[in-house]
Amino acid sequence: MSAPNTPSASTAFDRHALADFRSLAGRIDGNGPRYTSYPTADRFHAEVGDAGYRHALNACRANAPAPLSLYLHIPFCENICYYCGCNKIITKDHSRSARYVDYLSREMAMVAGQLGERRAVMQSHWGGGTPTFLDPGEMRAVMAALHQHFDLLPEGEHAIEIDPRRVTDDRMALLAELGFNRISLGVQDFDPEVQQAIHRVQSFEETRSVVLAARRLGFQSVSMDLIYGLPHQTTARFNATVDRTLELHPDRLSVYSYAHLPHVFKPQRRIDAAALPPAGEKLDILVSTIERLTAAGYIYIGMDHFALPGDDLAIAQREGRLQRNFQGYATHAGYDQIGLGVSAIGAVAGHYVQNARTTDEYYAALDAGRLPTVRGFETSADDHLRRAIIGALMCNGTLDIAAVEAEHGIDFATVFAPELADLDRLAEDNLVRRTPARIEITTLGRLLVRRVAMVFDRYLRADAARPRPAPAANDAKAVPIARYSRVV
Ligand code: SF4
Repeated sequence: MSAPNTPSASTAFDRHALADFRSLAGRIDGNGPRYTSYPTADRFHAEVGDAGYRHALNACRANAPAPLSLYLHIPFCENICYYCGCNKIITKDHSRSARYVDYLSREMAMVAGQLGERRAVMQSHWGGGTPTFLDPGEMRAVMAALHQHFDLLPEGEHAIEIDPRRVTDDRMALLAELGFNRISLGVQDFDPEVQQAIHRVQSFEETRSVVLAARRLGFQSVSMDLIYGLPHQTTARFNATVDRTLELHPDRLSVYSYAHLPHVFKPQRRIDAAALPPAGEKLDILVSTIERLTAAGYIYIGMDHFALPGDDLAIAQREGRLQRNFQGYATHAGYDQIGLGVSAIGAVAGHYVQNARTTDEYYAALDAGRLPTVRGFETSADDHLRRAIIGALMCNGTLDIAAVEAEHGIDFATVFAPELADLDRLAEDNLVRRTPARIEITTLGRLLVRRVAMVFDRYLRADAARPRPAPAANDAKAVPIARYSRVV
């Protein structure tokens, strides 16, 4: 018997589904939250601070010895990429990172102290910004602090984001020595004109050299990021980028959609809006990319992510244990996630917590002996239920209604009567199939899965029932600052 939420059979795309997607996309808005958390980060509020986080860490302490997941945010970059929506600090002054490393270590000590006993770490991820902005000594210092306070399990997944323009073979060897076993490379596009327009000139050779070094050094997984919808891109040009990327045979690929929001992300003001591909062309680029990647043997995991069939993500999806977390998709379920560094988000014992965005606020909190949490959310039983449903639909494309009823003690049809009515409308567009026992995302629906997930978002439903004014451009709550929110 299959596991309750093993994926639906719809794992491959044919021309038919892609043609349907092309014609539907003009009518159904596929944009929406990425649900790296539920409730989404724009619902976090300032009532959760140091005391709330300490309370959550105490609850987490009671779960010992369950392993943890860690995210470290290193915000520095030497140069600005014009499309960027991350929380970063552009500087060539490397003395700034020395101070940051010191405070990061202090935060680790404070969190670990609150947790009590040393905890095992099954997943760690260094993101940014550019983690490799740190010099070798600083990287060693951060890793030493991690080892001082936590047990990083050698069999765990330990990942770092890399800017291939800044990484030498020696640096790659250091990353391997420090225990990283996964790397994620930003590429975006190999076309020189596109690269000039986004202020990120990065040769194919630089990227290839990092990938070859990772293979030589035995890294278990190489992941690459592309972005479509950038200035001067056309289907033919992006096809060429995809083909060059395939030459490098990454284990995972993320292909993000660029959202041009210059009123929110200041660097985007330097992008010429007239050079952006029109909506129809952008859609063609996406469809062509899916065709190319799936023809090359990649599995569409969902939400912009592709993986080779033997990659852990694809295996986890086949086995029905894929999860959403702040890094996108994850293979391990249920670990509390500790966020360290400016703007880092954690998910601990039913609480979401987010650190201060600026180094000044972050340093001041730690100097005052406070955890630098500035906002968050304490989830309710209803949030847990809806998070489980959204997660099952986004990760596995199927929901076993009886399993949800048994686990949460509800009658699904009663609790979700309005949602089921909305799903029936999506079923008319062939995005979902519904039986009394299951909700299945169709092949077409997998391309518009955010639209399906939004049906179960209680907060969006409340917003729709009670229209509110659009958030101001400078409203910090409106700005997605987690790395993977950058292209919305
Ligand atoms: S895209 Fe990455 S490397 Fe470029 S400025 Fe943003 S955080 Fe830095």
